[in-house]
Amino acid sequence: MQTDARAGGVLAGWNHHAEIGPTGILRADGATVVDESGRTRLDFIMGWGSLLLGHRPAAVADALRQALDDGFGFQYEGPPTVDLAAAMCEQIPCAQKVRLANSGLEATMYAIRLARHFTGRSRVLKFEGHFHGLNDFLLYNTDNSAAPGQARPDGSLEVMSGSDGLARVLESEIIPVPFNDLAVLERVFAGHGQDIGAVICEPIAMNIGCIAPDDGFLAALREICDRYQTVLIFDEVLTGYRVALGGAQQLFGVTPDLACYGKAFGCGVPIAAVAGRADIMECLAPPGTVEMSGTNTARRMCVLGARAALAELSRPGFYAELGALNDYLVAGLRRVCEDRGVPAYVTGYGGRVGLHIGVEERPRTMAQIAKFWNRSYHVSCYRHIAARQQTFGLLLPLRLCPEPITVCAVHTRADIDLAFSLLDDAFSALPYRRADS
Ligand code: PMP
Repeated sequence: MQTDARAGGVLAGWNHHAEIGPTGILRADGATVVDESGRTRLDFIMGWGSLLLGHRPAAVADALRQALDDGFGFQYEGPPTVDLAAAMCEQIPCAQKVRLANSGLEATMYAIRLARHFTGRSRVLKFEGHFHGLNDFLLYNTDNSAAPGQARPDGSLEVMSGSDGLARVLESEIIPVPFNDLAVLERVFAGHGQDIGAVICEPIAMNIGCIAPDDGFLAALREICDRYQTVLIFDEVLTGYRVALGGAQQLFGVTPDLACYGKAFGCGVPIAAVAGRADIMECLAPPGTVEMSGTNTARRMCVLGARAALAELSRPGFYAELGALNDYLVAGLRRVCEDRGVPAYVTGYGGRVGLHIGVEERPRTMAQIAKFWNRSYHVSCYRHIAARQQTFGLLLPLRLCPEPITVCAVHTRADIDLAFSLLDDAFSALPYRRADS
């Protein structure tokens, strides 16, 4: 008998969800995937937010073809590596220097390593629900933790692991706090400011359903970090190149010291980066002493792919069109919910839209979402929609919080209309019920 040699039957665990079917995808193009039975489905996952130009965009595919001719696997420096860094420094407000990595996980790991060295302090403050990849140092208080953390006397949260197997010793290095709570930040900094080397945040908390910062929150965070000389890191792995060419820092007008990139930065090629202030980035070896490298980093095919992706993303009008598509999706989801009497909070940026079913007011923290969102109703609706086999991942139900619905630049309004009609159909078949009934 043949057995499945993949551990757990998958090759990427975090992104696998029992509720997503089918597991076998044969190929993908534009905004669609073809499943094992040959059915074409509209994709609302889009590479977990990475495929902002759709599946196999022509410009990236051409760059990969060029890599096949030039030699695709080497890492040596050359004009494309210079061009890519220069483009990022032009596009991203905080970027004075850039270094490449392979994944978002690595980028956040290196960013906090740099901050620890630069400040000589080792503790890192993070926000509950913000996800920074499966990085041992930051895999705490995420929507994969068993529950939201209980508040300690200063308002910081009990450390809640996001995975088994993490070294217990790391727990004393992390300070989790609720998002959007300036009073807690002030108290925590008053008590531990001299030990905090870095604050890392998702400037829009995309991993808990696109929760935006309160007005002025990021600017206040910037001011606190300046006051305590703590390095402010924006994890722009999801927001970077998605919410604006210059990412969330451009959108909100708040410049961090360092920022992390992945996902849409490569539009499908595996590449990531840390960008930031020259004086901090120059701590990297060479010329500095902080190591950041790897055999797979900055291979030519990825550099060419990302360079081509950034050229497409910087096309005039790209973000205006994406924003219009985003707003169309948000407005339509609100309308369907309203028409069917389903209480919901809908919010989205750059084609990533959080649909919080059963939530009447704008949630500001992970704990609020975990308490109020109606997961069981959400899962029923998801199953109803999935059974129609027209979509892949629409209304994706995740752990404590909803995974955003993701569209890309090649989704059409007709594609999005299909999402509305499927959702409307689900709501009409499954009358809304409150979480506790
Ligand atoms: N940061 C954020 C904000 C993310 O959403 C993710 C992945 N979902 C990561 C970091 C990790 O990126 P990667 O999966 O490339 O390691």
